Amino acid sequence: TTLFESVELAPRDPILGLNEQYNADTRSSKVNLGVGVYYDDEGRIPLLKAVHKAEVARIEAAAARGYLPIEGIKNYNKGAQELLLGKDSPLAKEGRTLTFQALGGTGALKIGADFLKQITPDSKVFISNPSWENHRALFERAGFPVETYAYYDAATHGLDFEGMLASFKNMPAKSIVVLHACCHNPTGVDPTLEQWKQIVQLIQEKDLIPFLDIAYQGFGDGLEEDAKVVRLFADLGISMFISSSFSKSFSLYGERVGALTLITSSADESTRVLSQVKRVIRTNYSNPPTHGGTIVSSVLNSPELFALWEEELSGMRNRIRDMRQQLVAKLKEHGVTQNFDFVLSQRGMFSYSGLTSDQVDRLRTEHGVYAVSSGRICVAALNSRNIDYVAKAIAQVL
Ligand code: PLP
Repeated sequence: TTLFESVELAPRDPILGLNEQYNADTRSSKVNLGVGVYYDDEGRIPLLKAVHKAEVARIEAAAARGYLPIEGIKNYNKGAQELLLGKDSPLAKEGRTLTFQALGGTGALKIGADFLKQITPDSKVFISNPSWENHRALFERAGFPVETYAYYDAATHGLDFEGMLASFKNMPAKSIVVLHACCHNPTGVDPTLEQWKQIVQLIQEKDLIPFLDIAYQGFGDGLEEDAKVVRLFADLGISMFISSSFSKSFSLYGERVGALTLITSSADESTRVLSQVKRVIRTNYSNPPTHGGTIVSSVLNSPELFALWEEELSGMRNRIRDMRQQLVAKLKEHGVTQNFDFVLSQRGMFSYSGLTSDQVDRLRTEHGVYAVSSGRICVAALNSRNIDYVAKAIAQVL
């Protein structure tokens, strides 16, 4: 027998599979709404001006590419942490915060998951139903059993808040709860701040371990606004994990820029935790790469570039909002009587459109419009040229 003889073919990633089908489609009218990427109105992934300026400066500086410290670039970590906790976080002053440069949000989740397995090996992990498809696989790979908590209510296209609270009440103490801090992927449905307050309280009462995942900061209502949930948790001083990503907000998907932030209960704990998380990183990939981290760090730490970035980020956010409004209006224009106003209250890049998998199939085969079989569409892939076509196609399959 050969070494790899018994290796079975892994199931295809459903979204990447969709992309392959899309690429092979020869219709010129085709539209890919299956992706999790922001496109500009020209249908291109933007290179932000703030990023470009920082890159030019970096090339001109002709800096050497030595190894970074295991935890990454100091100013990158400081900047990433301040976006989450604010500039004057008392936790930071007390030495109760730690931030590690990570390989995207995914890398942050993985480092966090591996470290959690080390310190609380018997915990269960709970993710929202539904959630980003990699959450389950990632925590299972780290050795945890993964279950779900109630989240989306298909009947209202909104949040099943009662169900969510009931799920939390039934969780064993020390369960790890993965929460999308804003712009829930895949539904676009977020709890209100009032609801979050109840969630936070319950998490504290039930002695659960929050793991906040924030991959779309700035795509909801703004950088500061979208950090409110993180700060709600931070204000209570609960020990927690936060994975954050700059992939979308800097349009730097391939640079793998993210961060893992931990809140501990004392400076002494922080010292010990720091040493252990460094070991997790060291044995995974040793230390993070230089380029993307340097770019993000330059932008976060230069008032001028920061202001430019924030403006560009608002531009992306507003364009998505505009697409939501146009989609709803155009569906009406094309004779749809069903109410799609829920699309307007959803946040971030995605919308759970309520389309059935049969309707999604027909969108693809009859119109070349690609969406995820769950009905998730990426609103950030709509633009002034394809939106009318998409609205008409949806109207025809309803
Ligand atoms: N978490 C959520 C909820 C996401 O939607 C994504 C990306 O799609 C990630 C994490 C991972 O982001 P990154 O590409 O930075 O690894």
